[in-house]
Amino acid sequence: MANCIFCKIANGLVPAVKLYEDEHFFIITDIAPKAALHYLAIPKRHYAGLSDMQIADADILGHIFSTIGTLQNHLKLQNGYRLIINQGGDGGQAVFHLHIHILAGQKLDFPHF
Ligand code: 5GP
Ligand code: ZN
Repeated sequence: MANCIFCKIANGLVPAVKLYEDEHFFIITDIAPKAALHYLAIPKRHYAGLSDMQIADADILGHIFSTIGTLQNHLKLQNGYRLIINQGGDGGQAVFHLHIHILAGQKLDFPHF
């Protein structure tokens, strides 16, 4: 998608340090972290949000979630972490390319951010 910042990062048009990458998604550090560690897991394919996905796309989500579970040491998630998807305006979504927030590195006693 033209003018989508996460598509541009996915395609290398905007540089970003990819902490993890495979054929389906990549992980970067959030530019404005809301916790001691704040990553974004971003599918390479453009979905505007969770509501833009079809049942047939469920495999990509399963792949992302299960892969995050294998990256605990690499991303320093050993003490736990929280995954968040903001969907739509009321959900606080600001970038309309699906992404999963990974929050960690501190006790996450706040209910939202
Ligand atoms: P949303 O509110 O859409 O769920 O979250 C969007 C997130 O993307 C925000 O936490 C924001 O800080 C982050 N973000 C926006 N633009 C960029 C960018 O260009 N690079 C990175 N690394 N993060 C970004
Ligand atoms: Zn996009």
